[in-house]
Amino acid sequence: IDDKEKVQRYLQMIKEENKRMHAQVENVLRISKLEKNELDISKEPRDVTEIIEDAIEHVSLIVEDREGQVHQHFNAQRNTILLNEVHFTNVLVNILDNAIKYSPAAPIIDVFTENIKDFIVIKIQDQGAGMSKVAQKRVFEKFYRVDSSRSSSTGGSGLGLAVAKEIVKVHKRTIDASSIDSKTTFRVILPIDSN
Ligand code: ATP
Ligand code: MG
Repeated sequence: IDDKEKVQRYLQMIKEENKRMHAQVENVLRISKLEKNELDISKEPRDVTEIIEDAIEHVSLIVEDREGQVHQHFNAQRNTILLNEVHFTNVLVNILDNAIKYSPAAPIIDVFTENIKDFIVIKIQDQGAGMSKVAQKRVFEKFYRVDSSRSSSTGGSGLGLAVAKEIVKVHKRTIDASSIDSKTTFRVILPIDSN
């Protein structure tokens, strides 16, 4: 108790762990509600770039702490889509959180948007640990973690992407993952709101 520096450090750790546990509880609740169709998923037309910027803001402190960077490449001209802001932000935060967590070095993340036909394609790319072909398919399963020993140091429950997939499904959209060398890209594809 007399070692002020130590006390401060431990308090900070407790605070961080608290936050992470809170996020995990949120994920567990969310997935159980999604499975029971109990989640309120009202949708409104929104500018998707604003939602992406908001999600990036959510992780900005962790990115700073890891001395990383997030680069934006917003190339889509048509950006209005029907979405549930809270849940959709959560999808993007879960992907960004992973991009940071699974980058052993300072995370470099690139976020792209583009229009392909009547869709907006959002790509979130990192240069972290990479993923095997099997993992790319399985990461959307509940509780699936590629390397639980490696991951245990980073915390997490293996639910983030399962929740993301459920939410994207509710929006009748697509999410997938690909990995070349150590570049992992998550892609979310959304139809542009025609109204
Ligand atoms: P939680 O998100 O619940 O805190 P988690 O991050 O382990 O825990 P998911 O977000 O569902 O769970 O991810 C599942 C697994 O996929 C991770 O444990 C990790 O092994 C792998 N993974 C996810 N994103 C990446 C990435 N960008 N690069 C490398 N591996 C990844
Ligand atoms: Mg995660």
